Amino acid sequence: MTTAFVYDPFERNHSFPGHPECLERMQSALALLQADGILDTLTRLPNSAAPLDRILAVHSAAYVERLQEICRSIGGSDSDGRQSARGNDLPALWLDPDTYVLRASWEAGLRAAGGLLKLTDAVMTGAASNGFAMVRPPGHHARPGGAKGFCLFGNVAIAARHAQQKHAAERVLIVDFDVHHGNGTEEMFFDDPTVLFVSIHQYPHYPFSGGIDEVGYGPGEGYNVNVPFPSGVGDAGYLTALRQLIDPLARGFRPDVIFLSAGFDGHWMDPLSGHRVSVDGYASMVAELMALAEALCEGRLICTLEGGYDLNALPHCILSTLRVLSRSPAGRSDPFGAVEGNTQAAEKTVSAVKRRLGIR
Ligand SMILES: [Zn+2]
Repeated sequence: MTTAFVYDPFERNHSFPGHPECLERMQSALALLQADGILDTLTRLPNSAAPLDRILAVHSAAYVERLQEICRSIGGSDSDGRQSARGNDLPALWLDPDTYVLRASWEAGLRAAGGLLKLTDAVMTGAASNGFAMVRPPGHHARPGGAKGFCLFGNVAIAARHAQQKHAAERVLIVDFDVHHGNGTEEMFFDDPTVLFVSIHQYPHYPFSGGIDEVGYGPGEGYNVNVPFPSGVGDAGYLTALRQLIDPLARGFRPDVIFLSAGFDGHWMDPLSGHRVSVDGYASMVAELMALAEALCEGRLICTLEGGYDLNALPHCILSTLRVLSRSPAGRSDPFGAVEGNTQAAEKTVSAVKRRLGIR
């Protein structure tokens, strides 16, 4: 039983002052993980940039070439992102109102995807049982033909295709519990019955997609599942979706591997959402997905960081996830506790999704 962990410090070069998706997210997480000592118990994987053919498995060549050209055209140096005091004179371009790129962002994006590929290799070959890729920029909003919502490359989609093409996984389940709809991942597999994608998110909320009726297209119909919760459903709401929906869907689908887009921005302290999930709630989700992976695919659970913007909550969400994955006797780490959620609203949404999919 080993849990693998990937972190690549190159991410520090991709950071814009005052933006929520910033290097301080990893600094705060690393500080807690190092103080705790848990990193010494995990298998640390070396990282490198993702090969271009892996990126091109889910993104258009036109977008990939354009992104590289844009980053090359930006002045400054590869370490500009670290100079967070430079403020508005930092050489940066905006690909949409939320998504900045610096000169180093091309390499940072390739390395974020690369980290998850390294983790996927370790788990699919049995070198590790499960693992967590603490990478940024995140990936689940990136579209086949463009960046979106802080995301440059669709990390989890790239890794899911890699698991299929390199490691002969036939069926891949991707669970996305980031508080925002995983629109990019959805789009990449919308007509594909070999990838079951389930996104739990706040709705209506950014990126304003992710309704119940987005169920997939053509042969992929029924293999795209959205759980669009209203604000404030809390831990019980998320666990309801997991037990009543994801569990039976996964058992019917029989995945060869489970990926988790682990965004922790539904935490009740997070500034970007209102879902009222706790650290312990996230840890329970991870524990149940781990049990599902053990029942269905020899424990292969591959987790990747997406959002999570509260610099106090995020580190404990990551630490607790790592403790669950590695079965640490230290248990979970939730100094902030839980707040009450609207369980009834969550049950109503889950029932509607089950009706739409014909699940009894
Ligand atoms: Zn998010």
